Amino acid sequence: MSAEGFASVDVAVVGAGLAGLSAARELERRGRSVLVLEARDRVGGRTLNGEIGDRAAVELGGQWIGPTQTRMRKLVGDLGLRTFPTYGTGAHLTEFEGAVIKHKGTIPRISGPVLLDVARAQRKLDAMADEVPLEAPWKAPKALEWDSQTFWSWMRANLFTRGGWSLVQLAVESVFAAEPEDLSLLHVLFYIHSAGGFDALVDTEGGAQQDRVVGGSQLVSIAIAKRLGGRVVLGAPVRRIAQEADGVRVVAEGAIATARRVLVAMSPTLATRLVFDPALPGLRDQLTQRTGQGAVIKCMAVYEQPFWRAAGLTGQATSDVGPVKLTFDNTPAEGAPGVLLGFLEGRQARILGRESSELRREVVLSCFARLFGPEAATPLDYLERDWAEEEWTRGCYGAYMPPGVWTGFGTALRAPVGRIHWAGAETATVWSGYMEGAVQSAERAVEEISAAEGWS
Ligand SMILES: Cc1cc2nc3c(=O)[nH]c(=O)nc-3n(C[C@H](O)[C@H](O)[C@H](O)COP(=O)(O)OP(=O)(O)OC[C@H]3O[C@@H](n4cnc5c(N)ncnc54)[C@H](O)[C@@H]3O)c2cc1C
Repeated sequence: MSAEGFASVDVAVVGAGLAGLSAARELERRGRSVLVLEARDRVGGRTLNGEIGDRAAVELGGQWIGPTQTRMRKLVGDLGLRTFPTYGTGAHLTEFEGAVIKHKGTIPRISGPVLLDVARAQRKLDAMADEVPLEAPWKAPKALEWDSQTFWSWMRANLFTRGGWSLVQLAVESVFAAEPEDLSLLHVLFYIHSAGGFDALVDTEGGAQQDRVVGGSQLVSIAIAKRLGGRVVLGAPVRRIAQEADGVRVVAEGAIATARRVLVAMSPTLATRLVFDPALPGLRDQLTQRTGQGAVIKCMAVYEQPFWRAAGLTGQATSDVGPVKLTFDNTPAEGAPGVLLGFLEGRQARILGRESSELRREVVLSCFARLFGPEAATPLDYLERDWAEEEWTRGCYGAYMPPGVWTGFGTALRAPVGRIHWAGAETATVWSGYMEGAVQSAERAVEEISAAEGWS
């Protein structure tokens, strides 16, 4: 980039999250010139390390990598990073109807009818999900029927016990950071298929929550950005993308890039906030009018040691009371300090997000103490991140589709508009909404751009 903040490149990439950075890395590897423009003063987007103590880090954003998330696993290895397993030795806790039950495995043995209820619902969901084409969910044989109802409506017709309802609701909140009534049934089915099954979404061992990156997941983006060097420009929010006769002009604060193509690598919700000249097709704009982000506040309490381990507990707990309904042991790979992680998701995040951080801290610690004992009430430190308050994210874990969106507008999700291409976890067909999905979306977008330009 020139001293005046001008660059002419093959591809301009908007957004230095995992999608934008891994696309830039691949384009560069193929001999193409790139410039990544990032609004924040850091890379990593929805992944972010927070410091605890002198050297250890915990993840305030996306963190886990599952065994079938092969792209992320390879990327981590290629960059010289390592993973370690989520702590899972001992018993999990489930708070249900006033009692706290200790158990092994993801689903607690609350009662026979509850287990049967959940197992039956899960079998039905997995079978229906298999019928949803990942490239085109709107082509599922029952797409219209499934996209015409919320997941709440489906639960009402298919769950028959309070415990079953509570466990499935918890699963939905923990996967989407949204409520069953927010989501199209078709979208839930698409997600299940995209992850390879219901279990893959909710399980720790063998599922999406299996492993973490030593030192924190933001290291992946930091390592890619380091290799790209001056080709990543921070603090440069892109405001406008103009398509011209033989290229695009991308105007950011403090920088302008002209390029053959532009890759917009962020959620559709944020992409709609850029100004496009000429204006985007109506269907694309109407799609982004309808996709919204989930709501999550990730909360962590730091203790000298992970004291629950000595009591034979994994640190993983679920609760039907909340407001923290899901916890994990998020101690760094070094084994200390001890970190308890609690999620406020969906409705709880919307409600508590309006309160002061002091009140939230009090509420979260009282949930930890109820589950893990009085020691949990007095941590050395407390960290939290409310992703709806982040100007350049505006909610997490990602965007989701309410009823009618996949069938009415889904074709516009990935379709390039002239020289504008779209990437980001939401545009993935595999592990949509996850870090793996972000990397897969980048692969697809690089192929798309290369084919359009005739680059081999
Ligand atoms: C609390 C939390 C927990 C999560 N847990 C997991 C998990 O355990 N495992 C997992 O796989 N996934 C998890 N996720 C999801 C995962 O983090 C995301 O799917 C993934 O990081 C998205 O990457 P991306 O590149 O598609 O988008 P982003 O990371 O959102 O990147 C988009 C980038 O665009 C930038 N940007 C936005 N607007 C502009 C603009 N106008 N100009 C320039 N730049 C702009 C943003 O600053 C950002 O850096 C979690 C997310 C959160 C928040």
